[in-house]
Amino acid sequence: MRGKIIKGIAGFYLVDCDGEVLTCKARGLFRKQGEKPLVGDLAEVEAAQTSESEANIVALLPRRNRLIRPAVSNVDRVLLVMAVRTPDPQFYLLDQYLVTMELQGIPAAILFTKEDLDGGELADYRRRYETAGYPVFSVCAENGSGIEELRGFLAGKTTVLAGPSGVGKSTLTNLLCPEAKMETGELSRKNARGKQTTRHTELFCLGENSYLLDTPGFTALEVKTDEAGLKQAFPEFRSLEGQCRFTGCNHRAEPNCAVKAAVERGDIAESRYESYRKMAEEIAERRKY
Ligand code: ZN
Repeated sequence: MRGKIIKGIAGFYLVDCDGEVLTCKARGLFRKQGEKPLVGDLAEVEAAQTSESEANIVALLPRRNRLIRPAVSNVDRVLLVMAVRTPDPQFYLLDQYLVTMELQGIPAAILFTKEDLDGGELADYRRRYETAGYPVFSVCAENGSGIEELRGFLAGKTTVLAGPSGVGKSTLTNLLCPEAKMETGELSRKNARGKQTTRHTELFCLGENSYLLDTPGFTALEVKTDEAGLKQAFPEFRSLEGQCRFTGCNHRAEPNCAVKAAVERGDIAESRYESYRKMAEEIAERRKY
């Protein structure tokens, strides 16, 4: 049988095999394959008849990708979540995440929550990222606006939700997957050893082959690349490649720069360009030491 690991806790793994969730052990797997199972892994499981587990993970399939924090594999995309207001969006942080995902080759999309608090700024927020080529969604959890469109986007994929606290990620997870709370309770009962359950990485199933991972934090990032890599991580710059006067133009102090011209025309959002400059400065600063 083949399934997807949706949660690991206290030496057990929950594996979703076509909608049936099995409690598994991974005995001998590390010795055999040198790999520790990760949430998101596709695994071969075999039925076992022991008192503690229903099946054994006997092999892991090759991973397409993996994130370190949260530790999860085979991510189809990351959905970066910001509220329209309360708290105000942190665009620099958002751009840092987008760059990090570009560098890892993981597609990203943006979701604005609390759409009902929009005082007219949402249209501008959307434009900034749509012109960069990212899918942008907006929802209101209270009145359900935008939820169906979002559900369509999540269908058939493994999506990681990331965003600062207070933007309503948990509300959204519970709304999209009402069993989310119940499953967590059931598992902690099963493996209770008198310990308080801490937050574990867990994929929530939204239906056939659709999984959602809600991550607890959204910490400040250090963008790990050089200036050449950074330029490539802004998709809206890539289409202008070769149009600057100087080959290898860094789109900063150089004259006749196609990127700067696009910012002036409004084809590239000023906030995105400012984020680029700030990241480039941070990279240059780090190189000095
Ligand atoms: Zn340029």
